[in-house]
Amino acid sequence: MGIPEEKYLEAIDRKRSEIMYLSAKVWGSPEIAFHEERSAERIKKFLRGNGFDIEENVAGLPTAFVASFGSGKPEVGFIAEYDALADLSQQPLMTHPAKLAGEPHGHGCGHHLYCGGAVAAALAVKEYLAQTGKPGTVKVLGCPGEEGGSGKAYMARAGVFSTLDAAIGGHPESMWAVRTRGSLACCTVLYKFDGRAAHAGAHPDLGRSALDAVELMNVAVNFLREHMPLDNRVHYAIMDAGGRAPNVVQPHAEVLYMMRGKDNASLAALCRRVELCAKAAALATETEMSDEFESGSSNLVTIPTLQKVLHQAMIDLELPKPTEAEIEFAKELVKTFPERDPALPLYPERVLPIPDMIAPHFGSTDTGDVSWNCPTVQMHMGSWIVGTPGHSWQAVTQGLNGFAQRAMLYAGKAQALAAIRLMESPELLAAAHREHQERTGGKYEPVLPPGVMPKL
Ligand SMILES: [Zn+2]
Ligand SMILES: [Zn+2]
Repeated sequence: MGIPEEKYLEAIDRKRSEIMYLSAKVWGSPEIAFHEERSAERIKKFLRGNGFDIEENVAGLPTAFVASFGSGKPEVGFIAEYDALADLSQQPLMTHPAKLAGEPHGHGCGHHLYCGGAVAAALAVKEYLAQTGKPGTVKVLGCPGEEGGSGKAYMARAGVFSTLDAAIGGHPESMWAVRTRGSLACCTVLYKFDGRAAHAGAHPDLGRSALDAVELMNVAVNFLREHMPLDNRVHYAIMDAGGRAPNVVQPHAEVLYMMRGKDNASLAALCRRVELCAKAAALATETEMSDEFESGSSNLVTIPTLQKVLHQAMIDLELPKPTEAEIEFAKELVKTFPERDPALPLYPERVLPIPDMIAPHFGSTDTGDVSWNCPTVQMHMGSWIVGTPGHSWQAVTQGLNGFAQRAMLYAGKAQALAAIRLMESPELLAAAHREHQERTGGKYEPVLPPGVMPKL
């Protein structure tokens, strides 16, 4: 491979089987948002045993932690996620759906690889700090509740990421690339309407329908769509339609809204207008409206300097290659991908270039809140067979594929290499800091209101 940093990355090779075992254990005990007790304990224990100091219960979240080694600046953190997806139980290395006994959930987003890569990267940067004796701190940022929980937003609100010079993450995917696209700011708000029940046939005049209010609110919002900025998004789900009896005027109904905007300010403007629709619906139906903020995250701020450093690190390392057995497994599994282009390779084979034109992205991620607090970059870890649908049993079953495990170790090395090069170069860190200031104005206003905590 012939890069001077190889002597630090070897720390990952030395602990290779332990890191793979840790990741496999997280895969085997899939836990959903904010309930990642077994997973967080395992990762903390591993890092403690490797000389890291552990801060627990970070931001008041029992399964959040920060593991640190070293002292002073520069300070680099690796993002670790470890939550699973509800009801996605699946046995490993199968070519058909088959539930895993005793575990209702499953790692359909590959977060056991995400945390494994972060742990690996931290070991290599620790090795760099130990061998060189230079000042600096490396952290593993233990972030619970990514799936629908916006765990990092609570941690960001508490200032967990604000001292970092760079935060680096690596999410499982079916391609090797640096993430260049941003994301939208997002929040969910539950709107509740209370009216008055009455006999719908005999005394309709005495009833005040909460269901009418929900329907009117939705109609108003659907008219609002025409007059929103093009990059705004609104989605809703009726959580409580007021019961199953059409002959009773529905006294209570609830609708959950998800709003997205280009940035936190644009989101706040959209939320105000949706709130007006709710108020108008309550006024028209003579019902009482109340709302409850559920969760939210900021838009993702991208940092080109960090993208280039991480991309070069990926290029400088040798990508994992599938074995014959892994190729055979992939050939069988892809038969379950209905619209897969047969011309595509079975496994990701190269690091994609950084595109000249960055396409917009209309999803959201709680890494957005990390990115408002420090320069942040993520890689797409090419751990999955090409064409694997995210959040699927096919993704879960590949979690223990040897290729996925080697992809995780490669991702750990690439993240560590990028971090070491940043720590070695005050110019690069200054450039990243400058870009971050330009893009955020140095002012973070969380989407999360003060005091709001996750509903467990
Ligand atoms: Zn996911
Ligand atoms: Zn994910």
